[in-house]
Amino acid sequence: MNILIVEDEPRLAEALAHILEESDYHTEIVGNGNDALSYARSQLYDLVLLDIMLPGIDGLEVVRTMRHENISTPVLLLTARTETADKVKGLDAGADDYMTKPFEAEELLARVRALLRRQGEVVFDEITCGDLTLNLSTHELVCGSKKVHLSHKEFEVAKLLMSSPNQVFSKETLLNKVWGIDADATENSVEAYISFLRKKLRFLNSTVDINTIRMLGYRISLPEA
Ligand code: CA
Repeated sequence: MNILIVEDEPRLAEALAHILEESDYHTEIVGNGNDALSYARSQLYDLVLLDIMLPGIDGLEVVRTMRHENISTPVLLLTARTETADKVKGLDAGADDYMTKPFEAEELLARVRALLRRQGEVVFDEITCGDLTLNLSTHELVCGSKKVHLSHKEFEVAKLLMSSPNQVFSKETLLNKVWGIDADATENSVEAYISFLRKKLRFLNSTVDINTIRMLGYRISLPEA
C-alpha cells in the first residue's frame, strides 16, 4: 500500500514515514500543496495524509481540488488546529477523516487501516431514495445535475438512513453502527454529522429531508408522492 505524506515539517514527516514503514506501508513525502496535487493526480497512492497548513496552496485547497477532479483517494487530514470550524471545513472540502496533532502512533495506524479497508471494499453500486442517489463507490450524493462528495462518516450515516427510508434510527444505533468502538464519539458527533448532511441536502436542493423525531432519533423523510 502506498501512502503519500504531505507535511512541510521535515521531522514530523520523517516520524510519520517511520511509523508507517514499520507497518509495511510504502511512503512518499512531499512538503507543499502544489507537489501534493501533482503526486495525487498520479493516482499511485492508496491514501493521502495531508497537513492543512502548507506552503503554497493549503491542505483544504488540495483536497477540494482533488475531489473536484474526481480523484477519490482517501484523505486523512492532519492539523495542529483544534477548532471545530477547521474540522468542518476539512470534511466539507472532501476529506474522509481528521486527526489533530499531536497524536499517538497507534491512533494513526488504526485510522489508516480503517480508511484503506474501506477503499478495498469498492462496490460499484448505488442507493436511490427520492430524488437522491448515493454512489457507494465514489461517496457522491447526487440530485439532478448537482452532486457533493460525502466524507466517510457522512457517507455511512447517509447510507444507513437512505437504505431504510422512514425508519427511525436512534442516536445510539447510529453511534454504534457508524462510529463503532471509537471512544471519542458521542451523541454530539451524531448531531454534528446529521447537520452536515442536512446542509448538503439543502445545497443539492433535494426534496428529501432528515427529520428529527423527538426522543427517538432521525429518519429520512420523502415528500408525499
Ligand atoms: Ca504544516
